[in-house]
Amino acid sequence: MTQEFAPILPGATIGFLGGGQLGRMAAMAARSMGYDVVVLDPDPDCSARPVASRTFTAKWSDAAAAAELARLSDVVTLEIEQIPRATLDAVTAHAPLHPRAEAVYIVQDRARQKEWLVREGFPLGAVRTVHTAAECTAAIAALGPSIVKSAHGGYDGRGQVRVKSAAEGEAAWHGVGGGTAVVEQFLALREELSVLVARSATGEIAVYPPSRNHHTNGVLTWAVVPGGFGDRLVAESMALARAIAERLGIVGLLAIEMFVLDDGTLLVNELAPRPHNTYHHSEWANATSQFEQLVRTVCGLPLGDTALVAPGAIHNVLGDLWTDGAPDFAAAMRVRGVRVHLYGKRESRPGRKMGHLSSVGATADEALARVRDAYDVLRPKA
Ligand code: ATP
Ligand code: MG
Repeated sequence: MTQEFAPILPGATIGFLGGGQLGRMAAMAARSMGYDVVVLDPDPDCSARPVASRTFTAKWSDAAAAAELARLSDVVTLEIEQIPRATLDAVTAHAPLHPRAEAVYIVQDRARQKEWLVREGFPLGAVRTVHTAAECTAAIAALGPSIVKSAHGGYDGRGQVRVKSAAEGEAAWHGVGGGTAVVEQFLALREELSVLVARSATGEIAVYPPSRNHHTNGVLTWAVVPGGFGDRLVAESMALARAIAERLGIVGLLAIEMFVLDDGTLLVNELAPRPHNTYHHSEWANATSQFEQLVRTVCGLPLGDTALVAPGAIHNVLGDLWTDGAPDFAAAMRVRGVRVHLYGKRESRPGRKMGHLSSVGATADEALARVRDAYDVLRPKA
C-alpha cells in the first residue's frame, strides 16, 4: 500500500477489450469521468462503438490489432475473459493490462478455474474435469444427476447439458462440443448470490454487499440488493469473495457467483474478472457504480464507496421479447421508478441480452416488484 503509484488521470485513454454491453456501460462511466476510450471487438456494430473514439474490428486471435489498441491506451481492461493468451500478452507488451493476463488465463477456462479454486481450498460443489465421452460417463456415474459444462466459451447457460444418469453421458459430452468439459454434481440450491470485489492497482480493496440473483434455465432473470441474507451469510460471502480476489491478484473487478444450499452451506459457482450482469443495480443502489469503480481500479485512483444508498433491482430484457418488433418500452417506463437501459444491439435473438430494467425502491421487495411489473408490461400478450 505504501508503494508509489502514479494514478492515470482523466484525459488519459482507456482501452477496452470487448465492446458488448459491459464495455459500453464501463466506457460511458469512463467518458463521464473525462477519459478517452478505444475499443476492440470482433463485431463492427458492437454496443460500445458509439462511445469510443476509435473501434478496432478484429478477431480475439488478432494480437497485432490488440497491440495497436494498447499503443493508443494508457491502460487496458476487458469486459470478456475468453481472449487468447497471446492477445493478452501482446497488450501487456505495450500498456498495463488490468486484470493481468495470468489471472484472466486462470478464469477463462472453466476447468482450469475450478481446479484453481479447489487447489486454493475455496469451497466448491463436487466437480470433475473430463476429456472424453467415457470420462464424462464415469463422472456422472460417480456424481449422480449433474450438469455437463464445456470448459470454453460457455455463457448464459450455453454449452451446458443437464443429465440424470450415466446413460446420457456420451450424448451430453458431444452436446457441449466434445472437448474438455466439467461435470458438476446437480445441487439443490436454496438461493443464489454474487459478490463484487474491486481491487485497485495500489492494493486497496472494496467489496460490494451481496446481490440476490434469480436464474431461469441458467440465465439471469433478475437481481436485487439488499439480498436479505442475514448477517452470517453476508459476512461469510464478502470475506470469501475478498479472499479469492486477493489470491488471484485481481486488479479491476472480480464477481463471484455463489450458491447457498439448504443447510446454509456457501459454495463458489464461478468467477468473472469484469463488470457483472448481477451488479447493474449498482448504478443506482450503491454510492459508486461497478462501471465507475472499474475505471478507478484500473487507473489506480482511490476506490469509491460501495455502501448501499437505496434498495435496488434489475430485470434482464432478452431478445425473446422482440416477437413483433421492439416491445413497448414507453409502457414499461410508466411503472413508477423504472428506468430502461438498452444496449443498442440491432439484431434481437431469443436469449440475447438486449437491455435491462432498473429501479430503486423504499425496500428491496418494492424495487424488485417495480422491475418485475415493468417486465410484465413488455411481455408479449398471448
Ligand atoms: P452466466 O454466464 O449467466 O454466469 P454460465 O453459462 O456461466 O452463466 P453457470 O453460472 O455455470 O453458467 O450456471 C448458470 C446457472 O445454472 C446458475 O446460476 C444456476 O442457477 C444453475 N446451475 C449451474 N450449475 C449448477 C449446479 N451444479 N447445480 C445446480 N444448479 C446449477
Ligand atoms: Mg454463471
